[in-house]
Amino acid sequence: MNSAAYAVVLAFAGLFGLAIGSFLNVVVYRVPAGIPLTRESRCPACDAPVRPWQNVPVLSWLALRGRCRDCGTPISRRYPLVEAATAVAFVGVVGLLFAQATPTAGTGAATAVIAAYLYFAAITIALTLIDLDTHRLPNAIVLPSYLVIGALLTLACLLGAEWAALLRAALGGAVLYAFYALLRLVRPGGMGGGDVKLAGVVGLCLGWLGWGALVVGAFAAFLLGGIFGIALLLTRRASRRTAIPFGPWMLAGAWVGIAAGEWLAQSYIGLFVVA
Ligand SMILES: [Zn+2]
Repeated sequence: MNSAAYAVVLAFAGLFGLAIGSFLNVVVYRVPAGIPLTRESRCPACDAPVRPWQNVPVLSWLALRGRCRDCGTPISRRYPLVEAATAVAFVGVVGLLFAQATPTAGTGAATAVIAAYLYFAAITIALTLIDLDTHRLPNAIVLPSYLVIGALLTLACLLGAEWAALLRAALGGAVLYAFYALLRLVRPGGMGGGDVKLAGVVGLCLGWLGWGALVVGAFAAFLLGGIFGIALLLTRRASRRTAIPFGPWMLAGAWVGIAAGEWLAQSYIGLFVVA
């Protein structure tokens, strides 16, 4: 693919990310509250319906100067930030995976793989915010993710990707699920059931890319979570008993594994092979 076509693909990824980010704002607000996703959007303060031109990602918030047009109630800065962050994440995923996935398996398989990781990026943003807000990882998001990611990766294999990668993804999901289930058994206060279920989804995504990605991604979660926990203790913003949601760290670690896991693992092994 030439660089102009590549730039167009990335631009579309960004626009698609803005639209999905707008939807994620709705998911983050409504799923924990049990409000149907299909209901039309209204201002929570004055109940005025959100008109189509007020629903344009980022731009509407800027045009409205962060306030409801009808009652002037401030609209959280989080809405445009989530939209922008999703756009950046989507551009990153496409940029990262397109070059890796295309030469081995062709465009069809690469598209299915990228769709799986775009989906994972979307639930990463939604689950991170929901876990921070409510200390929960809703089954309504986590459980269908096995099906969506599993189906997209299977489709990639039908279109020419290696079946060995799918087997590794399934094993990665099972291993990480079992590992977190064991942790929960040993220290029941530490992990929630939602963490264990999410670990299986994370294992699928890491295992597909390789064992290096799986090991680095799993380890990075505890490293990042641990550093954050120690920082909180040192700055006295938390005591040893403060419950810190682990979902965001598991997901942050997963993206370290996706972005750099295989490379880090190869370099690490290389240290010993050369020496
Ligand atoms: Zn209003």
